[in-house]
Amino acid sequence: MRAGAARRADRPDTGEESEGAGSELFRELARMVAALAEVRGLRSFALPYPGLAQRALDRTVMHCLDVGEAPPRSLPELWEWCRTKPAGDPLFAVPAPLVTPGATLVHPVGRMPTRSCLEVASHGPGGGVAAHAGALLSDLEARCGTGERYRQCRSFLARHPVVHRQNRFGPGWSKAVWSRVKDLYGPLPESLLVDGDFLRCSSCGLPALPRDRAVPVPAPSAIDTDIWCEGEECPRDDPPELIREPDQTWILRRSLRTFLALPYRTEEAALDALDRAGIDHEPVSGPLSAFRLRGTGAAIVDIQVYDRLQPSLLAAHLTDSASLADRTFVVVPDALAGRRGYRGAFTDALPALLRDRLTLTTPVDLVPDLGRGRGEEKDDA
Ligand SMILES: [Zn+2]
Repeated sequence: MRAGAARRADRPDTGEESEGAGSELFRELARMVAALAEVRGLRSFALPYPGLAQRALDRTVMHCLDVGEAPPRSLPELWEWCRTKPAGDPLFAVPAPLVTPGATLVHPVGRMPTRSCLEVASHGPGGGVAAHAGALLSDLEARCGTGERYRQCRSFLARHPVVHRQNRFGPGWSKAVWSRVKDLYGPLPESLLVDGDFLRCSSCGLPALPRDRAVPVPAPSAIDTDIWCEGEECPRDDPPELIREPDQTWILRRSLRTFLALPYRTEEAALDALDRAGIDHEPVSGPLSAFRLRGTGAAIVDIQVYDRLQPSLLAAHLTDSASLADRTFVVVPDALAGRRGYRGAFTDALPALLRDRLTLTTPVDLVPDLGRGRGEEKDDA
């Protein structure tokens, strides 16, 4: 798992130098898990396996022989390994600074790709799943023709990761917007159905699944431990919403659910904070969520918004990014920034040259941090 930037001499030690075949395998498996979840209704677990799954299985078998571990005998068994063997397992030995050692690629409760899986699958050449989301949005922007039309479509996608027939006759429904974005939706995959129904998390609005697929909504006492949603970090105060008529329901592509819809609440909170402080901003094309501030003098100052569980991979993504301003404020949800080790891991993974140009912040701290940034520029002058 080696980004181009990792070879730069100015990059600090994030442990990548000591990375081995296990880390590379972990990323290959992440890409396999992400891809299989899109194409299967678990049917691709039957022989013959899709090419990418067969290659990942072969590679895992070779790696197991190298390290003296009994290899998986089938794709279902490999999938189960991805659910039970985390990044820090001796089989992978992904360096702790790069990926949280306890992170698995398949969620133990939801049995679907984890957010960490999609982030690992987005790391390195090509940009993987997150780059796919970016490419879909670039296409949409080109098709929309005007910035205003694109902004309407983008905010529709972010607010409606799931569209039910009722939405289509509800208030605020725009036929024009739907006709531009409907290609980015598909029917609900079988793997997201529970006994013929569909569950949606009442907090993030993304798909949810119970541990026991025979019991769509567990008893209130078990909701905390027995329900998974794609947002993964949601409070479980309320049970998930049960949607019947799944054949009347459309779902946004997973890459956009994770990398556009999930961070959208943080984006709205950050822009609200700027508006309240009277700081003008305009969208920037390219990154999934970026805005340029107006009235910053000679310096170009941007904010970019992310909701990523793996801070070192976020830092690596920004290091490789061609779209950094003179100063970029990287806004993440308050709950993540407050997590033990998150800020430190982010900063440690940045090359020294970028540490003064990138500031990790939250919607609450954004405006005070911008003020401090201006103070520092004055001091430098
Ligand atoms: Zn959720």
